[in-house]
Amino acid sequence: MPIVLIVAETQPDGGLRKASLNALTAGAQLAKAAGAELHAVVLAKDAGAVAAQVKDYGVKVVHAGSAAHLEHGLAEALAPAIADLAASIKADWVGAAATAQGRDTLPRVAARLNAAMATDVTGFTGSGADVAVMRPMWAGAVIAEVKLHTPVKVFTVRTTEFPAAEKSGGGEVKAFAPAAPKLPTKHVEFKEVKSARPNLTEAKVVVSGGRGTKGDFKEIEALADELNAAVGASRAVCDAGWQPNDLQVGQTGKVVAPQLYVAAGISGAIQHLAGMKGSKTIVAINKDPEAPIFQVADYGLVADLFKALPELRTAIKAAK
Ligand SMILES: Cc1cc2nc3c(=O)[nH]c(=O)nc-3n(C[C@H](O)[C@H](O)[C@H](O)COP(=O)(O)OP(=O)(O)OC[C@H]3O[C@@H](n4cnc5c(N)ncnc54)[C@H](O)[C@@H]3O)c2cc1C
Repeated sequence: MPIVLIVAETQPDGGLRKASLNALTAGAQLAKAAGAELHAVVLAKDAGAVAAQVKDYGVKVVHAGSAAHLEHGLAEALAPAIADLAASIKADWVGAAATAQGRDTLPRVAARLNAAMATDVTGFTGSGADVAVMRPMWAGAVIAEVKLHTPVKVFTVRTTEFPAAEKSGGGEVKAFAPAAPKLPTKHVEFKEVKSARPNLTEAKVVVSGGRGTKGDFKEIEALADELNAAVGASRAVCDAGWQPNDLQVGQTGKVVAPQLYVAAGISGAIQHLAGMKGSKTIVAINKDPEAPIFQVADYGLVADLFKALPELRTAIKAAK
């Protein structure tokens, strides 16, 4: 029987990264279409606890690879361990969430396995050996159906397109000890950007500001805090150095799909839309009634954001 192997990521604090639950759903959909078994791999200094968690998500076998050199999740260390495992269990598909780590690691796995690779997969079509993947091209203007013709196929998934996996019965955990490669890089330091606000890619509500803020994010942040939301920004804002790059939403930033996305002073360039148009409800505030953001907005307000945002915040406070 063919095997779909999903890489489940661990976080710096040692827990399972939420995005991997979305990747497991993608893996389950692919396994169903391809008539395959779903396996997962967890790699860490001690992979046991996370592997025991992952086995409950409809996975037949979780391969728990524990080794000291895997502690910091360096792509150079993870890739050989994943590729060696995939070769030894004869996996047909190897996938992971398109997180920073997934994007860094999976192309290296594909190179080692001489495999074709598709990134940012949003769905699967066909069945059996004929399964193809769907992926966005040209900033999401086109959804391509792509067939990978190598015996082993590698992919990353756009997590906003797949719901998080739910617990559905326990599989088996198989421990293995990945060989330590000669690493060309070494981990020096991990500096986490601490924020009291929710993580941008996981938040249920995102309030984003664009060039229209002129760099003044006070009202954006105040509304975000009122809604327990993450703060996002357009590239114009990050390029100007008004906000850090990790807040950028869009084609070359983060892809988000919250329940509510508020875009204030953002024109709605196609590259920005590529990162947020999957949001459930989009609210746009812009002075220009012709701004393209209104074409994707569920609620549009033609207004000055410096007037509208405080009014909105007061109304939300009163409604609470
Ligand atoms: C290869 C490539 C990749 C890119 N990737 C990204 C990406 O990942 N993310 C991204 O965001 N962009 C990306 N861009 C840039 C993108 O094309 C736009 O330039 C950018 O999104 C514009 O940002 P903005 O909407 O904040 O600014 P602008 O386009 O300048 O829009 C500002 C808006 O604010 C409104 N405004 C001004 N003052 C007020 C006010 N007081 N109240 C209310 N509204 C006001 C204006 O009417 C205007 O619509 C990319 C571009 C390229 C070429």
